[in-house]
Amino acid sequence: MKVVLPFNIACGYCFNCHRGYTQACLTTNPDSPSAAYGYAGMGPYQGGQAEFVLVPSADFNYLKLGV
Ligand SMILES: [Zn+2]
Repeated sequence: MKVVLPFNIACGYCFNCHRGYTQACLTTNPDSPSAAYGYAGMGPYQGGQAEFVLVPSADFNYLKLGV
C-alpha cells in the first residue's frame, strides 16, 4: 500500500476533527488551532520534505493511494 501525507497535521479526535475541519485541529499546535510542517506559527514541526519524517497521528492523517 502506498500513502501520502498532507502538510497539515490533525489529531483525529478533537471537536474540529470530529466535524471534518481537520485544518483547524485544536490539539496539535499549542499556540493556535491548526498545525503544519514547516510553517511559522503552525506548531513546532519542521519541514516535511525529507527522506524520512516523523509523522504525529499518522494513522489519522495518511491518504491511501490506489486500491
Ligand atoms: Zn484535532
